[in-house]
Amino acid sequence: MKVGVLALQGAVAEHIRMLEKAGAEAIPVKKVSQLVDIDGLVLPGGESTAIGKLMKEYGFDTALLEFSAQKKPIFGTCAGLIILAREIAGQDWVHLGLMDIKVERNAFGRQRESFETDLVMEGVADDFRAVFIRAPLILNVGDKVEVISRYKDEIVAARQDHLLCASFHPELTEDARMHKYFLSMVEQYRGVSIK
Ligand code: GLN
Repeated sequence: MKVGVLALQGAVAEHIRMLEKAGAEAIPVKKVSQLVDIDGLVLPGGESTAIGKLMKEYGFDTALLEFSAQKKPIFGTCAGLIILAREIAGQDWVHLGLMDIKVERNAFGRQRESFETDLVMEGVADDFRAVFIRAPLILNVGDKVEVISRYKDEIVAARQDHLLCASFHPELTEDARMHKYFLSMVEQYRGVSIK
């Protein structure tokens, strides 16, 4: 199983390390032509505006719509979650718009820009250490979206078919269970990918 991490900006090396720890071969993806070689892709945290701009410049904006249409799993963390969203609060444009979620950027305000907490994550773990850094929140989700985790009633992780997202950084601890969960999705969809 080969999984890529979009390597335009953000926490790339950390995701590669975790994917390897979870048992996959992981590669940084810098060019659209690499997408045919991988079975799934992580969109890392960083700055969504910068990542989105670079995605357009390198053609990932259209190439990733095709990648998703082939049912190849995509896992967006933090800024990556914003990249996946169908709606961004206070903004009339989106990036990929693939996942039926409405998000709010920097939703925790200045007081709590960064913090850590333990989360219950459906199907993943009961005690997952989550690192939030200027994190977005999921304000609402569509019918097809399964909520995986909440922090104080707010949605912070969700899944829609082959798409997975988290508003925190699962790559910044030693706990590879969320990456393992993503790899199980990659395994599940590998058979159904339209090659
Ligand atoms: N605040 C960033 C954004 O809006 C996301 C932060 C992160 O990825 N850690 O893009």
